[in-house]
Amino acid sequence: MTKKIAVLPGDGIGPEIVAEAVKVLEKLAQDGLDIELEYGLIGGAAYDETGTPLPEHTLAISKAADAVLLGAVGGYKWESLDISVRPEKGLLGIRSELNLFANLRPAILYPQLADASTLKPDVVAGLDLMIVRELTGGIYFGQPRGIRELANGEKQGFNTLVYKQSEINRIGKVAFEIAQKRGGKLCSVDKANVLESTELWRETMIALSADYPDVELSHMYVDNAAMQLVRAPKQFDVMVTTNMFGDILSDCASMLTGSIGMLPSASLDEDGKGMYEPIHGSAPDIAGQNLANPIATILSVAMMLRYTLDQPEIAKRIENAVSKVLDDGLRTSDIYSEGMTKVGTAEMGDAIVAAL
Ligand code: NAD
Repeated sequence: MTKKIAVLPGDGIGPEIVAEAVKVLEKLAQDGLDIELEYGLIGGAAYDETGTPLPEHTLAISKAADAVLLGAVGGYKWESLDISVRPEKGLLGIRSELNLFANLRPAILYPQLADASTLKPDVVAGLDLMIVRELTGGIYFGQPRGIRELANGEKQGFNTLVYKQSEINRIGKVAFEIAQKRGGKLCSVDKANVLESTELWRETMIALSADYPDVELSHMYVDNAAMQLVRAPKQFDVMVTTNMFGDILSDCASMLTGSIGMLPSASLDEDGKGMYEPIHGSAPDIAGQNLANPIATILSVAMMLRYTLDQPEIAKRIENAVSKVLDDGLRTSDIYSEGMTKVGTAEMGDAIVAAL
């Protein structure tokens, strides 16, 4: 059956990098992948055209699609707009409208780029870890929250860290299933020694592990996990954690790999439908100059094939093509080092398509 993909290029470098990812999809379609693309506006581009960063049409095609491919949103031009219509509102809006509760952020360091990391090459070369972050619960959403005035007139800020068993179960299942498809190791990160909500998190993960005897479950307190991520990141295969811990740890992990232009991400709903996007933003400083690295977006397509379209062999083909192009010494500016061949956005996309 034809799989529908909603394509939302967005702002800044978004249209340039998405164009390269679409070249990859079109090549795969020529080779027999049964897909249909439908385009929509999002972010500042949508605001300029329709007065809202998330038009009805975009939401409708995204809901109807099997998967969504997103570039990035935002830029200087829209910074002075009211927060309710800023480009970023379109992104948060589509995530919540599609109920994307599971955020998958791989941190992969191609061995060819080991020098690009701030860590020693032997610590990070070959790094391939996946952080599964709960995205719609926890302290960012818990009630009550606010800033109140105490009896003595002093102000007090407060938030609530809450997790229901059902929320932990559904993110846990996603993480166990991903671990099954990867190296079979899952590390659950919590602070069960001091936070009851994460004590329940740990208990729930342990109960769930009975359904996944082929996955080796371990636990780590978040402070230790932060330390281990920079000390010996290759000990991890899949990590699963709460919204806030995942927010912090995944940014830390992304920097292990050197360039933000290399890292894809996926946000999934309960049925495995997903939105796929690079982790970086719209990079207005380099937009329109053929300078952006399209690899994060192309690897997001690989994630789409693996996690939503259930085509792991084709996903691997894309990842191998990226690796081949890096082997050949092609580099966009952000990953360039002496002796390599510097190429632009479009040339990098063309080379990856050729390597496919
Ligand atoms: P950014 O990720 O856009 O850029 C940070 C730096 O990384 C810039 O120097 C940029 O040139 C560089 N960079 C980013 N992607 C690159 C790529 N593919 N190739 C080469 N270099 C790349 O973050 P920022 O500058 O903080 O934000 C710019 C805009 O993007 C803001 O409006 C922000 O709100 C928005 N933003 C959007 C998303 C998203 O759409 N998911 C995420 C983060 C930021």
